[in-house]
Amino acid sequence: MIGFNIPPYTGREMDYMAEAVASHAISGDGQFTKRCNAWIEERLGARRALLTTSGTTALDMAALLCDLRPGDEVILPSYTFSSTATAFVLAGAKLVFVDIRPDTMNLDEQKIEDAITDRTRVIVPVHYAGVSCEMDTILAIAKKHHLKVVEDAAQGVMAFYHGQALGTFGDFGCYSFHETKNYSMGEGGAFLIREEEYIERAEILREKGTNRSKFFRGQVDKYTWVDFGDSYLPSELNAAYLWAQLEQAEEMKQRRLDAWQRYDQALRPLAEENRLQAPTVPAGCDQNGHMYYIKCQDLAERTEFIAFMKQRGVQCVFHYVPLHSAPAGLKYGRFHGEDEYTTKESERLVRLPMYDSITEEDQAQVIAAIKEFYHVK
Ligand SMILES: *Cc1c(COP(=O)(O)O)cnc(C)c1O
Repeated sequence: MIGFNIPPYTGREMDYMAEAVASHAISGDGQFTKRCNAWIEERLGARRALLTTSGTTALDMAALLCDLRPGDEVILPSYTFSSTATAFVLAGAKLVFVDIRPDTMNLDEQKIEDAITDRTRVIVPVHYAGVSCEMDTILAIAKKHHLKVVEDAAQGVMAFYHGQALGTFGDFGCYSFHETKNYSMGEGGAFLIREEEYIERAEILREKGTNRSKFFRGQVDKYTWVDFGDSYLPSELNAAYLWAQLEQAEEMKQRRLDAWQRYDQALRPLAEENRLQAPTVPAGCDQNGHMYYIKCQDLAERTEFIAFMKQRGVQCVFHYVPLHSAPAGLKYGRFHGEDEYTTKESERLVRLPMYDSITEEDQAQVIAAIKEFYHVK
């Protein structure tokens, strides 16, 4: 059976974890966490990066730092993971779902402005499959209407838009290092901050409401409880695991892009004959090979496709059930305008097996099964 995901593993993880254990410092913000934070700042150009316990808690931090009041509205796509939405629900906001573009499955930047009201505070672009949203347009809209931008770049680590790393455009950026993502620490994520003025508040929020980070830098002579907070520090064991992968970030990205290209070359002819649809990567988007998906004609064909692939020993999966039609989505949000693409396109999409260690033989088996399904040589 070719599974849909195998967590990435480079070989150095256990050595670094053993190093963390030997140093008798396995709680948060030790040497490995610092190395990972510094790597994100230096390699990806974030002003400040802080590892978190998940992509979800990075989004929670972002939502809490947006200073939302009851009745404030947040614009986001309905085609996304629940984490994007639930962070803003926890912070007390109302969700306003906007339609996606059918080519990238990203928030349709042309439909955002129409959804803005005098209660709108934040726009949340989700960079689906590590392919960037149209950030030039989104940032211009945010500037014009004085809105914050929180990037859900959970899938966008090591992806770029016109040369700039995803996660560094918005006021806040959120990465995930879950085992299904390109770089993993089991469970984990990172919170990225663009403006100097939010760094201290973010550190306090992440450190149980204390100014402990300032204390360790020698900026105050004792640490104390200064504001509301929570604990979002991952253990050094997890950070050590991640460090082994960030060290090899370029090679890992290249391997994923090679695998992505192999699928694409094999399936483009079927796309050109309109038998299926292949993904679009717009000019200016330097993607990271997070995902290869195809789109079937409709839900019925997709159901058949997944069952057929399973019989051929290939696990293919779909996601997401649009949030605006989910029980919590109905309770906490509303869809603005017409659902032209969100539901229709989400019902057609199916993800092919994609992971760091996927072999050409595995991919050949996947491709052969797809060709058999479509009755082509
Ligand atoms: C994975 C993912 C998240 C959540 O990340 P976790 O680390 O699993 O909490 C949020 N948003 C998107 C788009 C994701 O793909």
